[in-house]
Amino acid sequence: MRPELLVRPSSLAHLWKTLPSLPRDRRYLAGGTDLMIAASHGHAGDCWVDISGLKELRSFRETPSSLFIGSGLTISALAEMPAVKKWLPALALAAPHYASPSLRNMATIGGNAANGSPCADGVCALCSEKASIVLLLKGVKRKLPLPAFFLGPKRTALRKDELILGFEVPKWRHVSAYEKLGPRSYFGISKVSVCVSAEISGGVVKETVISCASVAPVPLMARKAAEFLYGRRLDEGTISEAAALAESEASPITDTRSEAGYRKAMVRVLAARALAKIAAA
Ligand SMILES: Cc1cc2nc3c(=O)[nH]c(=O)nc-3n(C[C@H](O)[C@H](O)[C@H](O)COP(=O)(O)OP(=O)(O)OC[C@H]3O[C@@H](n4cnc5c(N)ncnc54)[C@H](O)[C@@H]3O)c2cc1C
Repeated sequence: MRPELLVRPSSLAHLWKTLPSLPRDRRYLAGGTDLMIAASHGHAGDCWVDISGLKELRSFRETPSSLFIGSGLTISALAEMPAVKKWLPALALAAPHYASPSLRNMATIGGNAANGSPCADGVCALCSEKASIVLLLKGVKRKLPLPAFFLGPKRTALRKDELILGFEVPKWRHVSAYEKLGPRSYFGISKVSVCVSAEISGGVVKETVISCASVAPVPLMARKAAEFLYGRRLDEGTISEAAALAESEASPITDTRSEAGYRKAMVRVLAARALAKIAAA
């Protein structure tokens, strides 16, 4: 089912001016890859506000200590950026796992978060990069740690008409690994994904962030496993214990893509693989 009305504001100022005149049941349209699916189930509102032309949402800025990623940047655009390859290895590694090349050309990183799915690969990667999400409503900005944005399956902290402006990500010296188990190589939403980012100094873990997709109602931060790793060497025993802790933190469900018990067991396997890759890096 298509919306009755499609509007295309030319700037953020134009957007805020236009909104009050629009039907109340409205949705933002970015790449449309999730919205078209929602429309086919009759859940996409009466009016679409096409934000894909807003240049304010496609900015990418680098400071000495952080990066800002505009919500309207596509997954393929991000994957090509030298600064992403250098500072956001988790995001660069997640990109090839994301759907297919054609879909990555349309899908935006903002839409990946706004959709509120616990399966989102871009979100999983950004959580392990310690990203914050920057929201904007009529000139008023607020910033949340990315994991706090997700309230439940398909439920986020977004207020009516609030936009995701982008993501602020600190620069920190880390290596990452992204392990995804999907039904097939392309177009596969994950059964389980595990992303690990770690700063290692003198052979010892200084900091680790472990995020998982599709194994909890929201993107999961495996905090017990990450805390356990602090100050340890990534040997076989440590990896095995940390992976078991990550498994204990997962609370997946059975759905059309996979079975809860299998998903839980696979968290341990993927976490161990990711940690082994980091140890070898
Ligand atoms: C076949 C297929 C395979 C897929 N495979 C994967 C996969 O492997 N991994 C994965 O993570 N995802 C996958 N997806 C999901 C999807 O592609 C992503 O979630 C995508 O990033 C959504 O971005 P979009 O720009 O297309 O969002 P849209 O569809 O335009 O929007 C999605 C939702 O977010 C809202 N929205 C969009 N942008 C903003 C904003 N800036 N501020 C506020 N609200 C906003 C919209 O109103 C809508 O509710 C797949 C989808 C399909 C159809």
